[in-house]
Amino acid sequence: MIPELNWWQRLMISLGFQVPVGKRRLPGWSGSFMFYAFKCHKHGVVIDRIYGYDDESCCQKCVDEKRRLIK
Ligand SMILES: [Zn+2]
Repeated sequence: MIPELNWWQRLMISLGFQVPVGKRRLPGWSGSFMFYAFKCHKHGVVIDRIYGYDDESCCQKCVDEKRRLIK
């Protein structure tokens, strides 16, 4: 579990919601993006931008894995 989440956010995530946790800017990014905490069907609770693949929430790890499979 990610420590910065409160009980309400954890509840919403466990119910399958994507909970916004604020905008973040990473090195090399031209802007800031809203990040969400959500449950990845494969990796558990993650904080990331939302990636939509196959109508399921997935995280950067899933995207990387899929990219590797395509190559
Ligand atoms: Zn994932």
